Amino acid sequence: MRFEGKRAVVTGGASGIGRATAERLASEGAEVWIGDIDDAGGEAVAAAIDGHYRHCDVSDPAEIAALVGAADAAGGLDALVNNAGAGGSRERIDAISAEEWDRTHALLLRSVAMGIRYAAPLMAKRGGGAIVNTSSVSAFQSGAAPIAYSVAKAGVLHLTRIAAAELAQHGIRVNAVAPGFITTNIFTASLGIDGAAREQANAMIAGVAAQAQPIARAGRPEDIAAAIAYLLSDEAGFVTGTHFLIDGGMNIGPRHSWDPAAPSFFDAIAKVAGQ
Ligand code: NAD
Repeated sequence: MRFEGKRAVVTGGASGIGRATAERLASEGAEVWIGDIDDAGGEAVAAAIDGHYRHCDVSDPAEIAALVGAADAAGGLDALVNNAGAGGSRERIDAISAEEWDRTHALLLRSVAMGIRYAAPLMAKRGGGAIVNTSSVSAFQSGAAPIAYSVAKAGVLHLTRIAAAELAQHGIRVNAVAPGFITTNIFTASLGIDGAAREQANAMIAGVAAQAQPIARAGRPEDIAAAIAYLLSDEAGFVTGTHFLIDGGMNIGPRHSWDPAAPSFFDAIAKVAGQ
């Protein structure tokens, strides 16, 4: 019960990583305030965890201010998870428009800055708090996600570091999680796949995700929620301005490190050399 008597805001809490985080924090005693644009989903999660839901489009700074303000007015804000997101523009750098770039960054990077912007004064006035931002493995490599998304997620990491430096004087810690391939609705949502087709596509995605990294299973929202809960808790009291890469080893190991059937680079060369 690390969050007994604490109040936390989780954006994007209607689904996936945000939902698992809201459930995890509530299970450890937190009063959770969910902000999302999926009102039916958000209301359902809030009801299940005895929490609160408020419509909040994180692309709109005024709606973020209203969400964290409402949670604070209920008795003080202790924790914020800037997590809401979607795939954004899939255009490559030689085709993307300024409008699409801005739309993606308003959703994935400016939203995080504004979440911190509005939560920090509320936390500072009560002596501190903890913030976790959701970045991505795509912050470190190409090919994991489209360019506007990946650059925004890299920005989230540097925003995390500098905000942590600026806010430490107020007792506020700021950290990030960088998930790898986690089976959630983000992929089908970005492609506009809904209904029965969504379940089918998600099953296929889980199969691909199980083979994408050294740890031979798909990443789960709960894997990320556990790390977020740690970073928000007092156990992480000396941890700030850093990130937790939770990707089953995607960033360090190709498939052949666990799958004997997949040839390594050296195996492939040896074959060409006839050895
Ligand atoms: P998800 O689609 O299951 O959940 C995202 C939630 O954000 C949804 O409830 C959605 O309604 C909400 N949302 C979307 N746009 C919003 C907006 N403008 N305002 C408020 N809420 C909005 O996806 P997820 O995988 O749980 O994504 C959560 C976070 O994790 C995102 O920031 C995503 O970029 C990041 N992430 C996911 C993965 C992955 O593999 N699933 C990997 C790395 C990072």
